[in-house]
Amino acid sequence: MFSSAWRSVATNIETQLTAAYFRVQKLRKVGLRGMHSTLEDVKLESMQVKILPALQDNYMYLIVDNKTREAAVVDPVDPELVIKTVQEANVTLSKVLTTHHHWDHAGGNEKLVKLWEKELEVYGGDDRIGALNKMVRQDDSFTIGSLNVRCLSTPCHTTGHICYHVTAGDGKGEGAVFTGDTLFQGGCGRFFEGTPEEMYDALCTKLSALPDTTKVFCGHEYTLQNMSFARHVEPDNESIQQRIEWAKLRRASQDPTVPSTIGEEKIWNPFMRVHEASVQKHAGGATDPIVTMGKLRKEKDNFKA
Ligand SMILES: [Zn+2]
Repeated sequence: MFSSAWRSVATNIETQLTAAYFRVQKLRKVGLRGMHSTLEDVKLESMQVKILPALQDNYMYLIVDNKTREAAVVDPVDPELVIKTVQEANVTLSKVLTTHHHWDHAGGNEKLVKLWEKELEVYGGDDRIGALNKMVRQDDSFTIGSLNVRCLSTPCHTTGHICYHVTAGDGKGEGAVFTGDTLFQGGCGRFFEGTPEEMYDALCTKLSALPDTTKVFCGHEYTLQNMSFARHVEPDNESIQQRIEWAKLRRASQDPTVPSTIGEEKIWNPFMRVHEASVQKHAGGATDPIVTMGKLRKEKDNFKA
């Protein structure tokens, strides 16, 4: 029989072993590279999207066509992780989709092109993008195997910013949109090279016109910071509070909070809600959505979550 002293030693050892076990499990999930989030696959009817964390809070995405196993990568700032993922998934990588020229998105293009033995088509809307060989504009389209990609020109964060809308070849079923630093979950990118009018056109005209079920894959894990601002703008919006609780749980285990959907962003993202009286009232009472957009962005620039 154990004495109480032995029992306490045994309990202590058990506690430490349990803690060590969870540390190992976490390491297995996040990997030895110290990634900010776990690797995750999102399965849509016609495609699979592999979420690949990079740098401090960036996301790269590998889009795989279910029919042909042809693949494209979005913003491959960490080429080594892209190559490892492509090889493990045994898919054919042929295209690079660049959202904009900032180094944390386009900074891996040249290295990836160099490391990859086969020819890569590098898409983007700005000649400041490294290794660019396919310049695209609004409504240009191309394919990834049987998938269709349509380019949406969304200047404001940068003048050459492109969002990519990917759908099945027949245009039916669930689509996905890769929004870089234009639309974030619960927020939007800073207006480095553009105006409130341009961001309005991007968020409230072009992106809002996509089907509500479209999955939104954005360029950064900023959800909790953005949602904290969204709650400040609309304290009575319950969907914001619910998403915060959900996102806190996800982040506690380093799980990504992407994707959301266009329909959800219309419900909780203040920058997509500049027509709403509640948002306009918060932004000083102007009933012009573009004035509201400008005021919200200014306030967010100085907001401490
Ligand atoms: Zn950027």
